[in-house]
Amino acid sequence: MSQTPSQLAGLPPGAADPCVHCGFCLPTCASYRVLASEMDSPRGRIHALRAIEAGELELDATVASHFDTCLGCFACVSACPSGVRYDQLIEHTRPKLIKAGQRSAWQTSFRQLLLQVLPYPGRLRALLQPLRAYAGTPLQTLARRTGLTRLFGPEIEAMERLLPPLAAEAFSDQLPQINPAEGESRGRVALLLGCVQRCFDPNVSIATVKVLQANGFEVVIPPDQGCCGAVSHHQGELELTRQLAADLVRSMNAIDGELDAVLVAASGCGHTMKAYDELLTTDVQFRAPVQDVQEFLAIHGLSEAFRARLQPLHAVVAMHDACHMIHGQGIQAQPRQLLRAIPGLQLREATEAGVCCGSAGIYNLVQYEEGAELGRIKADDLSSTGAELVASANIGCTMQLRQHLADRASVHHPMELLAASAALQPLPGLTQGSRTSEIARKGEDRQTAAGSR
Ligand code: SF4
Ligand code: SF4
Repeated sequence: MSQTPSQLAGLPPGAADPCVHCGFCLPTCASYRVLASEMDSPRGRIHALRAIEAGELELDATVASHFDTCLGCFACVSACPSGVRYDQLIEHTRPKLIKAGQRSAWQTSFRQLLLQVLPYPGRLRALLQPLRAYAGTPLQTLARRTGLTRLFGPEIEAMERLLPPLAAEAFSDQLPQINPAEGESRGRVALLLGCVQRCFDPNVSIATVKVLQANGFEVVIPPDQGCCGAVSHHQGELELTRQLAADLVRSMNAIDGELDAVLVAASGCGHTMKAYDELLTTDVQFRAPVQDVQEFLAIHGLSEAFRARLQPLHAVVAMHDACHMIHGQGIQAQPRQLLRAIPGLQLREATEAGVCCGSAGIYNLVQYEEGAELGRIKADDLSSTGAELVASANIGCTMQLRQHLADRASVHHPMELLAASAALQPLPGLTQGSRTSEIARKGEDRQTAAGSR
């Protein structure tokens, strides 16, 4: 009996076979967009994989570099009319790229350094502590303006460009372990804090908890929870990913009592946690389903009591769809549905909503030129909508967009917008007199005037 190409190749069965080289995936591919080379497109990589597995091509450093340019955004999977599972193909290939000799010694060391720091909040906080006197201060502005940051090389410069002001909340977990439901109880959930998110944008988890509580859900936060393994998963470091994933499952499963869901407010983490059934054995699995918080709230609906609290937020908001949300988890309508519940909020769509912003885990650090170019393209696209706020539900995208949008728009998680509208928490980072605070103030004035009539 003859074998299909993927059976011959040892690739995931059926993943590459339906590719008919039509090229429909090319316009959606972020790496093709900035590199314009067939080898840096999904079609080119599929062709290369088939050739490698057929023994016609060697996975040497040059070929590997074309797989390293892939962001793993999965836009090609959404675009493919033939059902090619490129997501399976790249996940199958990435562990092979780690093999010694396929990346420079510096690239290998830099990636290892990131993998030894980012998944561990304690290590990340220790590293960030001395930077508190620098991040967000005139010193940082001066260092950037004088080109001082360039002296440390492009990867370190790319990291520095992402560094936000470091709030005191970034250095310790503020939320209690048990956060009771307000009003009539509608259920009980666990929440992942995320390792990068809890350090660089701690307000997201605080807003998420407040919104869930105000909607009648008790939120449990295991204090010993670690990383979900997303950063290492995206790099093909499967051993480390499995270890982190198993630890997180144990931590969440140690919660006493029933749980309706294990919730996540960062799409990269959610995507990896939904893959635990493939990564871990059947006896090491969450005892409640993993859901993005927006998915969960869209399923359960905002409570009447919560809707009654929502005050106008007169702002034009552009929705940014994180790739691991829209392509990885098929979540697109839910955040929009939640944001439309906010009175006065105008939602705008960017022209290229499905194209990656260039963040993609650590892509904007290790493939800094392509990452920066994609960040500029995405920022211009979002900015062209006229929005003064951008809604982003993934910490990596949020940091990338904040860098490239600069003062053109502020970037917030949809949970922060809901929390602000429900007067649970002000929108962070808005300075008095900024365009958005002016709009929000006008909205409040209108509401006050309407109330006094
Ligand atoms: S992956 Fe799909 S869209 Fe891309 S060339 Fe192959 S068949 Fe066409
Ligand atoms: S995952 Fe993204 S970057 Fe990689 S081939 Fe597909 S569309 Fe291109």
